Amino acid sequence: MKYAVRVPEGDTIHRAGAALRTALVGRAVTRFDAPRLYGPHPAAGRVIELVESHGKHLEILWDDGLVLHTHLRMSGSWHLYRSGEPWRKPDTQMRVAIEVLEWVAVCFNAPVVETYREFDIHRHPGFGRLGPDLCTAPNDQLSLCARRIFEYAEPSTPVGEVLLDQHVACGVGNVYRSEVLWACEISPFAPVSSLQPADCVQLINAAVRMLRANLHSQRVTQEAVPGGLAVYGRNGQRCARCGDTVLVKRVGEHSRLLYWCPGCQARLAPQADPTPPGLEREMDPHPAAAKYLAELPWRRHDPLAG
Ligand SMILES: [Zn+2]
Repeated sequence: MKYAVRVPEGDTIHRAGAALRTALVGRAVTRFDAPRLYGPHPAAGRVIELVESHGKHLEILWDDGLVLHTHLRMSGSWHLYRSGEPWRKPDTQMRVAIEVLEWVAVCFNAPVVETYREFDIHRHPGFGRLGPDLCTAPNDQLSLCARRIFEYAEPSTPVGEVLLDQHVACGVGNVYRSEVLWACEISPFAPVSSLQPADCVQLINAAVRMLRANLHSQRVTQEAVPGGLAVYGRNGQRCARCGDTVLVKRVGEHSRLLYWCPGCQARLAPQADPTPPGLEREMDPHPAAAKYLAELPWRRHDPLAG
């Protein structure tokens, strides 16, 4: 696999979440080990009630209200093993191990591992305001996601960063953000305030299509793109759409790799020439787009209001 993707994306977390749910829910914990955890540990014998995934966040809830929260970022993964089965990663990379009858769930290398009590959920900074999960959200919530992009509180933030903000929507990881922006022909460096409502809808629609199309596959691919991925991991190669050379750059708080084609993703690029007349992009043909657009006009954040 030339473009193998090891980055945890929303859909792979979904599969991990489903497997963990099947193995863990309704079972009592026989062993819990989390060497770097700050916060309370679940007591032996406590029963797991719920396993929930939102984007790269995973929550496990015990029957006494204890919640374990992991965020995998780029490096982390959850594995599920039969009891006694050898692990595929070294013990030293283990951040959480949860043992129940017949199964051991192991989280490796997650940068965020924490526990808190359920009643604190609204005070927990990572929760409460998380955006809808693009893998599962119904249409009205997708509309909300598009609107959150349009009304993004910090107008100068590049759209490439906004797509990773889990408060806008959950599920878009580093691979999808590059691919989604390419699919929409939008510059990843476009200030979010330069996007029109139709752009926001188009981005969410593209992300939804890609995430859901890949929900049951082993890797991220784009339909009708040779090799599956248009830009991610393809720096230095020719763009399948315009023939220009795909570039890569480290951006953002976590210096994550962003791939884009400067040839056909010039739209809304800072200081770019305006699109010449006659080359306007067609509207997104996705049937749901009409529904979202019916909700216009949206209002950007107005610092003078309330
Ligand atoms: Zn191109």
